[in-house]
Amino acid sequence: MSGVRDESVAEVAEELRRHVAWLADAGVREVPSPPALVAARAATASSHDHGAPARANQPLAPPSAPARATASTASPQQAAGGAYALSDKGCGSAALLATRGDLGECSRCKLGSGRTKLVFGVGNPAAELLFVGEGPGEDEDLQGEPFVGRAGQLLTKMIEAMGFRRADVYIANVVKCRPPGNRNPEPDEIAACEPFLRAQIAAIRPKIIVALGKFAAQTLLRDTSAISRLRGRWFEYGGVRLMPTFHPAYLLRSPNEKAKAWEDLQLVMNELGRTPQQRR
Ligand code: URA
Repeated sequence: MSGVRDESVAEVAEELRRHVAWLADAGVREVPSPPALVAARAATASSHDHGAPARANQPLAPPSAPARATASTASPQQAAGGAYALSDKGCGSAALLATRGDLGECSRCKLGSGRTKLVFGVGNPAAELLFVGEGPGEDEDLQGEPFVGRAGQLLTKMIEAMGFRRADVYIANVVKCRPPGNRNPEPDEIAACEPFLRAQIAAIRPKIIVALGKFAAQTLLRDTSAISRLRGRWFEYGGVRLMPTFHPAYLLRSPNEKAKAWEDLQLVMNELGRTPQQRR
């Protein structure tokens, strides 16, 4: 019994060690308090000080009147015998649920026939921060959730280094089905899928979109410039400010670039009124 407990403590310790190593690689020298601690402190403070400022990690209020998501250029299609629930991955508001219903068992492009699971998105339906990647890989195709493989684990660490939990943000992709052999999505596939990403953005109404990697940035911005030129600069997509940065899969291959990605994420944090970590 205690052997099992020792093993899980060792696993947690190892995970923590890897997380701290990622933060150190990225140049982080201080980490924010965990939300539970911040909440406990705020509760203690508010019993002494009624004028205390709002907590940084307060849950986001849902939009007062959720926009009905519409897929303007793709023909709406009822789910083929499919019912989707608010509790399904990425469907946590009426507007997101409606978008998921419009997508249905999608076969609008050739990617539909090769997928195991359609990867709609995941996260807080009222997130202030939306991450957009390229398209599902093998792990995502099997699990029906974006960014769950090695690159996804790094993305989760990036999100946590920004002071969020993965569940606080929303994560989606340009295309919702896995391209065979992880090739880049083709123009007709993007054209079929992008209206649903736009509908998700209309439903979530994030303050900021982070485009992960060359493909997402170039596609959303209709700009063929290298990601090294696009990253670290503000753009706009669908009326929302957009920051391109390196893809976590690229950062796994080129860890020296993590510091630049961290600079980009700090710009995002600044914009969201979050205190960037001090680099020393
Ligand atoms: N890479 C992406 O761009 N998206 C995913 O969901 C996973 C890996």
